[in-house]
Amino acid sequence: MQMVQISRCNMKTCAYNMDGLCHTLAITVGPHAECNTYVHASNKGGFGHVTAGIGACLAADCKFNDRLECQASRIDVVGHGKHADCETFQER
Ligand code: SF4
Repeated sequence: MQMVQISRCNMKTCAYNMDGLCHTLAITVGPHAECNTYVHASNKGGFGHVTAGIGACLAADCKFNDRLECQASRIDVVGHGKHADCETFQER
């Protein structure tokens, strides 16, 4: 089983964001499809050569969610004010 990858993330204030991509190993998505790994920091984190995946997703109402794991082909993350959301979320 392969980890679902994040195609893009526009949350530029996140420590893990560089060039519109997320560079931590894996994010956790919360019950409202919010990115729980987002951290506002001026110091950058993550690894430049890494493209982030989805470690776990608690958004059980999403049609791509199976056993609290994401089964989408890829996802996009977008900023909404002071937090970021999984834009690929679709209600069952
Ligand atoms: S597509 Fe659905 S299951 Fe996958 S990370 Fe987004 S909210 Fe979770």
